[in-house]
This record gives sequence, structure tokens and C-alpha cells, in this order.
Amino acid sequence: MQSARKIETILQDKTLEAPLRQAAEKVFEGQRITESEGLYLFEKGELAYLGALANFIREQKHGGRTYFNRNFHIEPTNVCLYTCSFCSYSRLIKKREEGWEYSMDDIMEIVRKYDGEPVTEVHIVGGVLPQYDVGFYSELFRRIKAHRPELHIKALTPVEYHYIFKKEKISYEQGMRLMKEAGLDSMPGGGAEIFHPEIREKIAGGKCTGEQWLRIHEIWHELGMRSNATMLYGHIEEYRHRIHHLEQLRQLQDKAGGFQTFIPLKFRNKDNEMSHLPEATVIEDLRNYAISRIYLDNFDHIKAYWPMIGRNVAQLSLAFGVDDIDGTIDDTTKIYSMAGSEEQSPALSTRELVNLIRRVGRQAIERDTLYNVIEDYTDHEFEEDQAFKGYTALPVVNKN
Ligand code: SF4
Repeated sequence: MQSARKIETILQDKTLEAPLRQAAEKVFEGQRITESEGLYLFEKGELAYLGALANFIREQKHGGRTYFNRNFHIEPTNVCLYTCSFCSYSRLIKKREEGWEYSMDDIMEIVRKYDGEPVTEVHIVGGVLPQYDVGFYSELFRRIKAHRPELHIKALTPVEYHYIFKKEKISYEQGMRLMKEAGLDSMPGGGAEIFHPEIREKIAGGKCTGEQWLRIHEIWHELGMRSNATMLYGHIEEYRHRIHHLEQLRQLQDKAGGFQTFIPLKFRNKDNEMSHLPEATVIEDLRNYAISRIYLDNFDHIKAYWPMIGRNVAQLSLAFGVDDIDGTIDDTTKIYSMAGSEEQSPALSTRELVNLIRRVGRQAIERDTLYNVIEDYTDHEFEEDQAFKGYTALPVVNKN
């Protein structure tokens, strides 16, 4: 395997520092790296070295397979009671009339817009406001399931759950059970930001703590359900905070085992209270994907969220540990376009997404939320691509 040969080449390098050699040996032998080794990778690991290690793990787990799913997003509101300093939504609480606050009927209208479309998942997440409470979301999930029972509902993060359960005066356990009964299928990974209180209190003070975020996922996993995890990087955190964050996730995964996918989220600096900070470079984005892949040995998947990093970096990420690209979605997603992403209208057709994956030599696999294969696009020909067959049919002109 090409990716194994690259690690063998790294190990032959006599100039490689001992801790980097040790980490490479561990990865080659399928062993877990420690927190201090992880920190060393962040501080000293060069891009090519990290890419070789991460790609080896990625290909051991998935070969060239790259997953995507067909989903659509609903953000019930872009107004929020909290004041997270990285979030472009929080500013609207003072001028509420500029935002949107969908009613139950508005949301059901969006769901109905996708009737007959081959989407398998609805992703619901947005701001926190009092009218969106346990009663509202329970009824919403029930109505979606009554309308389209096979549609997978991936909805809300511990930030919302912590708020609505507290308001209802019920425990996390009672609350998550109610959500499951109402039709919730899985939880997205948002709201994790950075768990370490030194950073969390500065950028996301007031909302659920890191421990509470982890506890709600743990309870959900104990109910036999699945969820994802994220990390918001590239702002005021240091590498040690990132490693602390990854370590908390790795420990919970050892214990409860319900995480499917880890999604690193890049801090974007438009229209929020941290706009003065520079954004992480593309090199830092790729290093971060690679170290996430290396560190989280008990996570099956690492996902790149292309509306946030752009299509080209998403393609590159597939050589740095990423095996999943989210997703074919439409412009109902405003979180990242409002925060300054290059992708102001994040929509890709299935053909565009498949070709984006193929162009970097990977196999495109459509999956459902739980990673069951829906279609393997490896040999699939799209009608639009058949129309143009290249220049091979042109006559050869002899210029002599
Ligand atoms: S990150 Fe979430 S909780 Fe924080 S202000 Fe934005 S929408 Fe609200």
C-alpha cells in the first residue's frame, strides 16, 4: 500500500526527531498516541509528515472510500439569547426584527419542499429562544415523522437541550428520552466549541459547559443512539486546549461508544466579536484534520464541512485523514455564510459532489446518516457527463 510505504520512508529518515519517530511507529503499528505526543505533533509535526500518518490511518479504515449524504438543513431561528463571541447569530438579539423566527408551520413548509427529493436526512439546528422549547421540538419531530417517516431527524445540540430541559425542570435523562420518543434519530456535533473552561468561558460563556455537553451525549449513547462531535479551532485557543478537547472525546468514546464522526470547525471572522482575529491558514486546517485523524483512533470518520472551508480545501483534506464530505445541501444553511465563508450559497448537486471527490482519485459513496451505503458511485456515469466524451473522436491531422 502506497500510504504504508510513505510511513516506512519517514521511519528511515535518520534526522527525524525521536518523538515524531515514536508517533509514526505507533501509528504504523495501530497503537494510540498519548496526550503529550499529540501536543508534540501540533507543535512540531510538519504537514507532509502529518499527512502521511493520517492518510495511512484513513486508508486502513476506509481505503479510498469517501462518504457523503443527501440532506437539507433547517435553522428555526438565527436569533439567539447567548452571546458566543465567535457567532454571527448572537448580534441579532438586539435587533430581532432583522432575523427570522420560524413557526412550526414555516418549518413544516420547508420539510414539504423536499417531498419527492431523494434526501435521507434533515439537519435542524439554530439559535436558542424561549418559544423553542420541549413542547415545540417534541411536536415538530412528531409532525416530521408523521409526514415522512423514513426521513432521519438529526437535530439540536446539548446547547439547546441543556436550555430547554432546564426551562422544563426535567433531567437530561428524562429529556433525552422524551426527544427519542418524539422521533429524534441522532444528534449533530455542534456546540462543543472548546471544552477547556479557560477558553470556553471567554468565547461561549453562559451556555452549557464542556462537561454538560459530554454528559448529554453520553446519556444519548446509553439510549443506544448515535451522535457526532465537533471542535471550533483557530481563534484564541492554544494547542494544549485542542488536545484536551480531543482527549475528552476519546475518553467518552471509549466509555459510551456512540460517536460516529468528528468534524473540525474552522473559526471564521466576519461579523462577530472576534473579527479582529486572523483566521487559520489552509496549512493549519490540514494539520488539524490530520492530527484529529491520528489522535481519535476510536472514531470511525473524520468529516470536512465544505461550506465552511470551500471546495478546494475540502478536496485537499481527503489526503489528510478526511473520509467524509458534508453533504449535498442547499442555501438554507446560513451559519457559515454569515460568518464569512467563501461559500455564500452552499449548494452542490450530487453530480458536482461526486465529481469533486473523483477528481482527487477517491471513490464517492452515498451513505445514510448511520453510514449504511445507499449507492456506490465508483462506476456511475451521469447523463450530463456522457454528452461530452473528450477529444478522442476528433480526426488526427497530419501536419507533415
Ligand atoms: S453559537 Fe449557538 S449558542 Fe452561541 S450565540 Fe451562536 S447560535 Fe447561540
